[in-house]
Amino acid sequence: MIPYGRQSVDDDDIGAVVGVLKGDWLTQGPHVTEFEDAFAARVGARHAVAFANGTAALHGACVAAELGPGHVVATSTLSFVASANCARCVGADVRLLDIDPQTLNMDPRALPTDLDALVAVHYAGLPVDLARLGHRPRVVIEDAAHAVGAITPDGPVGNCAHSDLCCFSFHPVKTMTTGEGGMVTTNDDALAARLRRFRHHGIEPRPEQGGWVYDVVELAYNARLTDLQAALGTSQLSKLDRFLDRRQALADRYDVLLADLPVKCPPRAPTGFRHGLHLYPVRVARRAEVYAALRDAGIGVQVHYVPIHQLSVSQPVVGSFPNADATYAELLSLPLFADLTETEQDEVVAALGDALAR
Ligand SMILES: *Cc1c(COP(=O)(O)O)cnc(C)c1O
Repeated sequence: MIPYGRQSVDDDDIGAVVGVLKGDWLTQGPHVTEFEDAFAARVGARHAVAFANGTAALHGACVAAELGPGHVVATSTLSFVASANCARCVGADVRLLDIDPQTLNMDPRALPTDLDALVAVHYAGLPVDLARLGHRPRVVIEDAAHAVGAITPDGPVGNCAHSDLCCFSFHPVKTMTTGEGGMVTTNDDALAARLRRFRHHGIEPRPEQGGWVYDVVELAYNARLTDLQAALGTSQLSKLDRFLDRRQALADRYDVLLADLPVKCPPRAPTGFRHGLHLYPVRVARRAEVYAALRDAGIGVQVHYVPIHQLSVSQPVVGSFPNADATYAELLSLPLFADLTETEQDEVVAALGDALAR
């Protein structure tokens, strides 16, 4: 089966992890700090705080921003459920937003005015144009799980030019991996301190009362990244540009190869933006049949995502989502990852052509 996404791990990556295993420190330690510093420098943020996964990163961001009961947090319905559950985890109410069918993102100009926070999802890696937010709620969090390496006219996604916090995921299907892992970037010192406290049980050391003394000032979690994962992350980060270039070349090639098929290709990045290209989601008629035919042909296509408003956890839901519903009915993510070969890509396109001709 050709998967829709998979990691690229080479001998340098393996060597980096093995080196940590031979040392003294396995859990969060110097390699986490090194990874955080390299990541912050890459995206142009003052702070980067590593987490056990992208979901914990989003949860930590909501806690750090002091969101909770009585607050309304909006996010795009066309996303992974974690984009909404982070708000639910802190007791806030979720307001799901329909998408703009041109970008597949929420429409920044159509943001409701009665929100406390926005979790802006850069779907497939195309940045939401946050410079165009019609209205800025108290807190803006970016869910950039798809958008590591993406760029806007105001710089790299992660520099928080128009947000308070920006969250990343390093799950193996994402553009770079740590096995499981996540990161939050911010330019705010107080937010960074709260993020670090949240991932470490809410502990505050009280050294003035004795070397061992600490207090726990809030209910929190162990959401730490290990040094093993961080070493993999630093090694992967050094190859991010190669991964992005390869994804771009493959996406460009799909655009050409699919030109004569009854397929709608994903939106491209507008001038001044760089697409993160986590996914290559096309739109096709008779999606269920095409999905089944491609799976039978050994092509691991996937659907991103069942819209959050259709999930049981979201009921009862307020609003209607005609654009997301219509888009979801046709969505199909084709394989896109750095190690995908052109021969494999040709196989994907041939199988898709066969499925559409049935
Ligand atoms: C992958 C993903 C997450 C969660 O990341 P994990 O590292 O898997 O916890 C959150 N939001 C979106 C949009 C994602 O695609």
